[in-house]
Amino acid sequence: MIFKNTRAFAKSLDAADSLRHFRNAFHCPRHNGKKAIYFCGNSLGLQPKATEKAIQYELDYWKKYGVEGWFAGETPWLSYHKKLSELAAPIVGAQPEEVIIMNTLTVNLHLMMASFYHPTSQRHKILMEGGAFPSDQYAVESQVRIHGYDASTSIIELEPKEGNDCLRTEDIVQVIENEGDSIALVLLGGINYYTGQLYDMEKITAAAHSKGANVGFDLAHAVGNVPLSMHDWQVDFAVWCTYKYLNSGPGGVSGAFVHEKHFNDNLPRLAGWWGHDETQRFKMEKGFIPMYGAAGWQISTAQVIPFAMHKASLEIVEQAGGMAVLRKKAIQLTAFLEFVLKQSSRPFNIITPSVYGERGSQLSVLTDTNGKKLFDYLTDSGVICDWREPNVIRLAPVPLYNSFEEVWEVGQLMA
Ligand SMILES: *Cc1c(COP(=O)(O)O)cnc(C)c1O
Repeated sequence: MIFKNTRAFAKSLDAADSLRHFRNAFHCPRHNGKKAIYFCGNSLGLQPKATEKAIQYELDYWKKYGVEGWFAGETPWLSYHKKLSELAAPIVGAQPEEVIIMNTLTVNLHLMMASFYHPTSQRHKILMEGGAFPSDQYAVESQVRIHGYDASTSIIELEPKEGNDCLRTEDIVQVIENEGDSIALVLLGGINYYTGQLYDMEKITAAAHSKGANVGFDLAHAVGNVPLSMHDWQVDFAVWCTYKYLNSGPGGVSGAFVHEKHFNDNLPRLAGWWGHDETQRFKMEKGFIPMYGAAGWQISTAQVIPFAMHKASLEIVEQAGGMAVLRKKAIQLTAFLEFVLKQSSRPFNIITPSVYGERGSQLSVLTDTNGKKLFDYLTDSGVICDWREPNVIRLAPVPLYNSFEEVWEVGQLMA
């Protein structure tokens, strides 16, 4: 599509946008009496208006049933996780049995590594992104140490080639080839939180498997942002949070994927009573019998209130028509943002790949020495986006609640 850098053109794109009404399904923060432009859905998604009702529903349920709420009524808490798995599965491209909603992201990363990282003196390395999200770095380092290995020799960090901002798939594959069977686990973000680069998860998974390594993805920035096919890509495990593009609230409940091919592997795991066979759970007997599928990785009592918040937001994705529909608008929205930024008299240095297949809804703009001033100006003008040290402004227009007109306005303010 040929874009024009005018408000009228942006408005014409909004008029043709079949998702435009979904804006009204969210509460948007205000700035100086008018709606802020919220480009921070990659950090904390907006609150769906349905969330309050969903929480109230569970509070009423609790009021009405007390402990009986686990079994009684139309929506007993005991099977709540099943509904969430059904709603979340298409978003990550999985079968419902491969998905479990529980805990928080870094906790789930540890749980998955407990099952999928078993270093031996031959095969002990973890391949990850240089400058990965700090929580992932800390989690990986601590796992390596728990197993008695040394982070400096057991963690390989991928760095972009000289002069590049992003990694190239062929270089990642080359490292996997070179390291061969010393790699126990390849663990990458689906989308890098800093650069916004979307990795070729299918190719990376195939390369790692050809060398006998397990593969896991941290989908924090990919889930609810781009369509995913965890099952078909043969990924071993994945984890994600739900408060970014999935709008499930601050510290909201997280998700984990375990590929079906591992269900009968009798993998070691950190167990708890909530992962124990549901039909036997309340017999309170010795001897852990895992529930079938990813549900067997549950540990603790279901978090009903965060579940309710997550369900409300997952239902919006479903009502919108799913990830393919969201993605279609996201591609256009991001391309339009890139276009208006490039129209500026002093073009911005966007480090996110310009190919749409290699990015999601975020553009990371590398600023010069006045970057923080520019960011503060945006904030003062009512744009909520984020600043990443040392010099990056991340802009994330998201299809559920952002408009083309907002993109155009941000472009003008940036210019
Ligand atoms: C947001 C994010 C996290 C946050 O982890 P929590 O356990 O939810 O605090 C971790 N890793 C990545 C890659 C993220 O983007």
